[in-house]
Amino acid sequence: MTYIVALTGGICSGKSTVANVFARLGVPLVDADIIARQVVESGTTALSKIVARYGYHILLSDGSLNRAVLRQKIFSEQREKKWLNSLLHPLIRQETELRIASAKGPYVLWVVPLFVENGLCGKANRMLLVDVTPEIQLARAIVRDGITYQQAEQILASQASREQRLACADDVVDNSGEPATIIQSVTFLHKQYLELAAVFQ
Ligand code: ADP
Repeated sequence: MTYIVALTGGICSGKSTVANVFARLGVPLVDADIIARQVVESGTTALSKIVARYGYHILLSDGSLNRAVLRQKIFSEQREKKWLNSLLHPLIRQETELRIASAKGPYVLWVVPLFVENGLCGKANRMLLVDVTPEIQLARAIVRDGITYQQAEQILASQASREQRLACADDVVDNSGEPATIIQSVTFLHKQYLELAAVFQ
């Protein structure tokens, strides 16, 4: 069995930035966001089922899923949200398990933004949290995503709180400083995970 380190954090905490440093050290990544997109790519059974339920207007002109329209469909409709989750969650889970099992390396980094929100705490051997203050998240989200302060605040409010994430974390990377400081923290953690993975084997 592969030793699994889950990497999580709120929007713009720096998950991708930290994950890239692990990747440069040769750690295989399994990215929950990428899997969630791939299970509804053009040609998949899941996308056909979504079209069968909502009609062709759920697609963009290139035949791919119109996520904005789908989000609207499930936004205030609990029944639709449940239907979609019951379609996608098993597929995402299956694909995630497959990729983790076939990852080459002493341990795998599972990048999963909604780790706390989706109650995945028992699904990893260790949870690494990328932590910054909400103020830093807001400032970075406004710049990266070109959204307003209010929009960024809404996204933050829809996610788990900093305290909820900290309560589940085994390790924390403080990403409020210069990006270069992450390298030192990640190098230290990598060494620790190699040791933990060796004992786990
Ligand atoms: P996440 O994957 O958690 O949403 P990203 O890694 O994409 O976050 O980082 C969000 C934004 O903040 C990006 O534009 C990134 O370049 C920037 N960023 C990340 N870490 C730092 C840092 N330590 N200092 C300044 N900007 C940062």
